[in-house]
Amino acid sequence: MKILHMGAECYPVAKVGGLADVIGALPKYQKNAINDVSVVIPCYQTVFRNENNFECVHSGKLKLGHFNFPYKVLMETSNILGFELFLIEIPELFDRPNVYNYKDDIERFLSFQIAALDWIVEKKSLPDIIHCHDHHTGLIPFMKKYCPKYEKLKNIPVIITIHNGLYQGIFTFNKLYYLPEFDLVHIKELERENCINSLAAAIKCADEITTVSPSYLNEINHSDNGLETLFQRMRYKSKGILNGIDLDVWDSNKDPMIHANYSIETSNEGKQKNKEELCMLFNMNPTKPLFCFIGRLYNEKGADLLPKVISSLLNISEINFLILGYGDAEIENELKQLLEVHNKNYHVNIGYNEELAHKTYAGSDFILIPSRIEPCGLNQMYALRYGTIPIVRRTGGLKDTIIDFEDNGNGICHDQASVEAICDAIQRAIDLYSDKDVINQIRIKGMNIDHSWEHVSQEYIELYNLIIVKRHEN
Ligand code: ADP
Repeated sequence: MKILHMGAECYPVAKVGGLADVIGALPKYQKNAINDVSVVIPCYQTVFRNENNFECVHSGKLKLGHFNFPYKVLMETSNILGFELFLIEIPELFDRPNVYNYKDDIERFLSFQIAALDWIVEKKSLPDIIHCHDHHTGLIPFMKKYCPKYEKLKNIPVIITIHNGLYQGIFTFNKLYYLPEFDLVHIKELERENCINSLAAAIKCADEITTVSPSYLNEINHSDNGLETLFQRMRYKSKGILNGIDLDVWDSNKDPMIHANYSIETSNEGKQKNKEELCMLFNMNPTKPLFCFIGRLYNEKGADLLPKVISSLLNISEINFLILGYGDAEIENELKQLLEVHNKNYHVNIGYNEELAHKTYAGSDFILIPSRIEPCGLNQMYALRYGTIPIVRRTGGLKDTIIDFEDNGNGICHDQASVEAICDAIQRAIDLYSDKDVINQIRIKGMNIDHSWEHVSQEYIELYNLIIVKRHEN
């Protein structure tokens, strides 16, 4: 079976968040069961691109309305990732350091999708399944199905995995002419609320839809995301599959980025050493509990609540807070301002820092994940693996992976995304901290849970087989 994954990110090539971790790991673990798995992403100006070897396997000119962009398909030649990696190089649109947040993102990702299909349709050996991830590849199912130019690909089944339904790739019909020619009777398939909506088009045209956790699938059918009624109608072809974690990258026992490696058996001493190192870096007291937050600083992550939580608790409790993230400028500023008052037991790192993230998972006692929306969440799974106790809001994938310790579980849970609820949960953690035996039991329970891709990638393979059988039957 030949599977082609397409998306905007792939760790370690280009990463913003969990999407990269999934596209960088799932294919590697599928490789054990499928002989041909490859990944296609745009070619950004990243360290990985500059430091590795690539061969040009195809070149052409893509047409985006009346614009023409030369492009190349570059194949990574040393196979260090455990799967074939192809980068679509469109210099005018992607030769930039960041993945997202440019004002021509619509043009960028549409061009990426067109170039990829132009290339695939020319290939001698076609994939058996195209696996798209998020709205950046959301128009692939439509174009493949309805553009005569891609007629040869028409019968290849497509899966869309939704990592975050908040982002939908919406643009006006003024840009319809960007798409390759198709019969306008199909135009409704692109439309949602009078706009072209890439994610909605994918949901309508893909053979199967997956979300990155079962609870998130239930939530997007009811929550106010603009697509809930569409999700309900398409429920018959939807499945929630919980993400896994890559133990080649996220294993406290062999992680080269942390200060001291540790297993379940040595977790007490191991975590202590990592905590001391981390506290030394940021002038914190390692005898006090250390709470961290790692992630994008946006309301969806509940990050807007952090400044109030931190300032109210630091005034009454002797605890440490360490924040790593970037995003909303207002939240960043509020968090930075807190440094003026609290410089001993609080630190914030604004920015993206992979190594510090690993050190923080290893050295913290608790991780805060107060998300309003969390389609899966990888942070809590990494934290469990590193013996750091997650404090989560019960939503999406957090609900599927974390159970409160009072119900014999592996973490601390709260229901509301509010300052009070988070402070209460932290207070329960502070109380717990003084009972080393209970803390150890919870920690060990978490470290023992197997969230590895090794274990969960099989669910996707079963889905692929099912889709192929269905196609043959039709
Ligand atoms: P999302 O994809 O919504 O951002 P996930 O929990 O699925 O959230 O994945 C987040 C990933 O990004 C994890 O690997 C986490 O460690 C990483 N991450 C988030 N913010 C940062 C940061 N500022 N520096 C380093 N890694 C980060």
